[in-house]
Amino acid sequence: MPDSVQGRHSPADGRDFDVIIVGAGLAGLYAIHRLRGLGYRVRAYEAGNGVGGTWFWNRYPGCRCDVESLEYSYSFDPDLQQEWQWPERYGTQPEILKYIEHVAERFDLLRDVQLNTRITTARYDEATGLWTLAAESGEQVRAPVCIMAAGNLSTPRLPDIPGIDRFTGATYHTGLWPREGVDFTGLRVGVIGTGSSGVQSIPIIARQAGELTVFQRTANFSLPARNGPMNPETEARHKSEYVERRVAAYDTAFGIAGYPPPRIEALQANAEERRRQYEAKWREGGSISFLFSYTDLLTSDAANGTASDFVRGKIREIVNDPQTAKLLCPDDHPIGTKRLILDTGYYETYNLPHVSLVDIRTHPIEEITETGVRTGKAEYPLDAIVFATGFDAMTGAMRSIDISSSSGVTLDEQWEHGPRTYLGLMVAGLPNMFMVTGPQSPGVKSQMILSIEMHVDWIAGCLEHMREKGLGRIEATEQAQEEWVTHTREVAEATLYPKANSWYMGANVPGKPRVFMPYVAGVHAYKAKCDAVVAGGYEGFVTARAPVTVTG
Ligand code: FAD
Ligand code: NAP
Repeated sequence: MPDSVQGRHSPADGRDFDVIIVGAGLAGLYAIHRLRGLGYRVRAYEAGNGVGGTWFWNRYPGCRCDVESLEYSYSFDPDLQQEWQWPERYGTQPEILKYIEHVAERFDLLRDVQLNTRITTARYDEATGLWTLAAESGEQVRAPVCIMAAGNLSTPRLPDIPGIDRFTGATYHTGLWPREGVDFTGLRVGVIGTGSSGVQSIPIIARQAGELTVFQRTANFSLPARNGPMNPETEARHKSEYVERRVAAYDTAFGIAGYPPPRIEALQANAEERRRQYEAKWREGGSISFLFSYTDLLTSDAANGTASDFVRGKIREIVNDPQTAKLLCPDDHPIGTKRLILDTGYYETYNLPHVSLVDIRTHPIEEITETGVRTGKAEYPLDAIVFATGFDAMTGAMRSIDISSSSGVTLDEQWEHGPRTYLGLMVAGLPNMFMVTGPQSPGVKSQMILSIEMHVDWIAGCLEHMREKGLGRIEATEQAQEEWVTHTREVAEATLYPKANSWYMGANVPGKPRVFMPYVAGVHAYKAKCDAVVAGGYEGFVTARAPVTVTG
């Protein structure tokens, strides 16, 4: 019988490691570093043939972060954050991947990563207290603890359009972009999808393509990123304040310090004051700054309408053709209730003579033929199609693994009607399985690296607690989970978020339960709750010694 979650002395309990991690993106890599530093034997399994997760897979042209790079980076190592130099305000995908690879090398993380290994099943055995994870190859590995760091936006989705396999030209999904890049020079290219990935890639693809046709089902709001070379003074000032800023970020709604929270409601200002305020934010660039114009932009339709109208006005100013401008103006959701996009020259791209916008809401795509796309209205001959059609977000990666316990609990059943978690960290009935930035945590509604670090640190603290107390098993109670699920739903219902058909709602995947999945009370509220849970002796969790004890 095993006697600890840490087998530093390799007890003969059948374990291969103390902790198995699924995924080697920013979350999996930090988990290796943090837990290894505490003496745990860890191993991460990664489906890709390199580390980096999102930044490994999404190599489409124009891909970059939409949170400023001085923020969107690890905070755990003071030297790293001082030394790394970001060339631009918003790092490009190659730059971010280079950073992640540097971190992996600097902290010698690769020796605990097994690449090219997709985990397909994970089963907890109540008798031995061990998780057994199996890979596609049939390889099996055991440990008392497993951490799912499989990502929220890591399961790319192709649309269910008839004939998709018949097309004889080249097809690409933004989230599975070829490593060697793609040359669209002179080609007739179609892009399906106008979320962040489409909006980032369209202006760059337009520079190469002979003809570019964008197929838009739903118009989205996008703001100018105002990207540019890193300002050395901004960088020096930011770095001199790094420690304080990182701490302060935990006390903000989105996990980013430096944006003064709004103080008044939108309708407390008059129309001219609001116009000036939105104009200043539009010039400054960035989504949080814009959403921080007024206190109630995400809770009041009337307030939100003023911001939505402002951006629609901008679209009409930028886009020359009135019909195209009209199509590009979002009219089915309040601004900010879908991921607010940041772009560089997106709307301007539609003024180019070789770029056209096709409205597939009015005339949906009926089929993809051997030579192009056919809507109810016309046929569009194409040489290449780019699917910027998004992901089975937040639950897709977890649900592609067959997760169960010998007690009979399965993740599929637990999440049949939408995800149910306690704090987005654990699922009742699945002991010793932690998630990083799981559903019902603020993860995707925050600067995600902060949320990743917060979760991994919380998990590390939990394992240390178990080790100190000689515990081997921790599980969220059904009651705590139920209360948390209800609370997250109530918080969401008090906002405008559920009004949008977003991936936050599961709305982009036909048949997926319509449940608002992120926790939107803010990072500050969430952190306070997680801290209180710990201070209260891991409230809402049950712990036990048997059958595995965490020693160390
Ligand atoms: P991921 O990076 O998704 O890594 C998960 C890894 O797990 C992947 O490598 C995957 O291959 C692996 N995996 C999954 N399932 C299995 C399995 N069964 N077996 C083995 N391996 C598996 N967030 C921000 O805060 N700011 C941004 O600017 C920002 N920009 C983004 C841009 C794009 C294009 C996308 C798609 C997302 C962006 N995000 C952004 C969110 C981004 O996903 C997170 O910031 C962060 O990279 C997530 O890291 P992660 O390690 O949790 O997950
Ligand atoms: P997305 O936001 O889900 O957008 C997918 C697009 O494809 C939507 O326009 C959608 O239209 C369209 N689509 C999907 N299925 C379709 C179908 N069957 N027919 C026609 N159109 C279809 O996906 P994404 O753009 O990849 O972005 C996902 C998330 O990743 C973002 O929200 C963001 O969090 C992150 N991301 C961030 C950045 C960044 O700037 N840093 C860049 C890329 C991604 P509908 O809206 O009508 O469904």
